[in-house]
Amino acid sequence: MTIYTGPVFDMARRQFAVIADHLGIPERERDWLLLPKRSMTVSCPVRRDDGEVSVFEGYRVQHHLALGPTKGGTRFSASLDIGETAALAMWMSWKCALAGLPYGGAKGGVAVDPNALSRRELEGVSRRYMQEMIPFVGPQIDVMAPDMGTNEQVMAWFMDTYSMYRGSAVPEIVTGKPVELGGTLGRREATGRGVAFLVARAMERMKIAPRGATAIVQGYGNVGSVTARAMSGRGLRIIGIGDHTAAYYDPKGLDLDAIDRHVAKSGVLGGYSAQGLIEPDLLLTMPCDVLAPCAVERVITHANADKIKCRILAEGANGPTTPGADLILDQRKGELFIIPDILCNAGGVIVSYFEWVQDLQQYYWGESEVTDKLNLALDRAFAAVEARAARDNLSNRTAAMAIGVEKVRKAMQLRGLFP
Ligand code: GLU
Repeated sequence: MTIYTGPVFDMARRQFAVIADHLGIPERERDWLLLPKRSMTVSCPVRRDDGEVSVFEGYRVQHHLALGPTKGGTRFSASLDIGETAALAMWMSWKCALAGLPYGGAKGGVAVDPNALSRRELEGVSRRYMQEMIPFVGPQIDVMAPDMGTNEQVMAWFMDTYSMYRGSAVPEIVTGKPVELGGTLGRREATGRGVAFLVARAMERMKIAPRGATAIVQGYGNVGSVTARAMSGRGLRIIGIGDHTAAYYDPKGLDLDAIDRHVAKSGVLGGYSAQGLIEPDLLLTMPCDVLAPCAVERVITHANADKIKCRILAEGANGPTTPGADLILDQRKGELFIIPDILCNAGGVIVSYFEWVQDLQQYYWGESEVTDKLNLALDRAFAAVEARAARDNLSNRTAAMAIGVEKVRKAMQLRGLFP
């Protein structure tokens, strides 16, 4: 039992145990690697538009500090708790290590539904959260970024709050900022573009031609919407999309322009059309070439894994597939290609790293330079996972996590136990 105990942290712990067994990590070393270095819980009192005060709980978990500052997103979600935050921080550690970034993993957020706040209230929550975090973060300590429920504007408020405290502009305190404030070109699109890039690699391996291939995307926030666009740009037909308000399915292909116009107006998919509506749970089990879960954790479980009919599972979300589902999906090795989350959605943090480097140097790159370097980093990570999976006869997930865990372990061993 730890303060993190709960369904999401238990899932991350189970995944880690599989890797630790595979790598032969002795019991006495496991908690050292697994448990977060630091966790903060803060109260964020915010004045509401009606004059009342609401207090929201905020969290930040810094998983390990062996390689440099910690890095990870900030999630605004009503159901967020410290256990989920810790699991997401741990996954960031393996993700950054796999991509070769000089970071430990972190994650944070506020237990609040951002859609239930006015813009003024959202600014209040954002500023108060960053204000409470000032003693724990810094460009060399912990660098935040967007995640579910946050965006460039929230990062701009974070940056301003930190900069006002320091007395000068500190763009390198957060990534995923507006370009006008020292953000990088290509960051907003980075995760989704990365997913589509890796899907193309997986399609080469599976000998599926992009023209005529079909894809379903679950989740239509920044990651899902850009993933759908980028796959469509590569010639795939998007036949299904869904978010927490509605799901649509059309085997002839959905009209992404019309959908994006609707989402720009109303913020969600719900209300887009009376045609093509489908039960959201069914979306995941419809036949398609590529299934990209781009929303929350634990949507592919032991209960539906045997009904998944795609040939490529591209995990844009963090932790969409439970270890129980993995046991079922592993039976289909050869006919199903899984691009595991810590590889599949790594484009976001890779370009966040580029943003931080540009801010530190105050020297800014063009968008094609960002995209070329992103593709190179993803290709390297993809090749490393493929080679490891082939060498040791592992699933892609085990191979990816083994590389990540091994790198963190090596760094911690080299630095040694202090004092
Ligand atoms: N929130 C994103 C993730 O889960 C991005 C993190 C970052 O850019 O630091 O990977």
